[in-house]
Amino acid sequence: MPKRNPVVFDIDWNACIRCAACIAVCPQDAGFVSAFDTIAVDEPCGIACMACEEICPVTAISHDDVSERRERAPRVGTPAAAG
Ligand code: SF4
Ligand code: SF4
Repeated sequence: MPKRNPVVFDIDWNACIRCAACIAVCPQDAGFVSAFDTIAVDEPCGIACMACEEICPVTAISHDDVSERRERAPRVGTPAAAG
């Protein structure tokens, strides 16, 4: 499988129905959750399989590449891959 760039997620909290489908489908560690029992937000996901976005029944999940997000939020300090 080709390596993907890490992504960070945003959740539209007004749209989210707290169904937890994104958590159920996610292969990340159990701690990769938000305070509202969705996948984590503002925390880079290096797997980037996008299953969470695809399964969300209300399309509440969106994402940015970490490299793009870093321009707006410098605290995401993951260095870009060398080369
Ligand atoms: S992209 Fe995949 S691994 Fe990352 S949060 Fe979504 S479901 Fe989990
Ligand atoms: S799958 Fe979508 S609606 Fe369900 S908890 Fe996750 S973000 Fe909310």
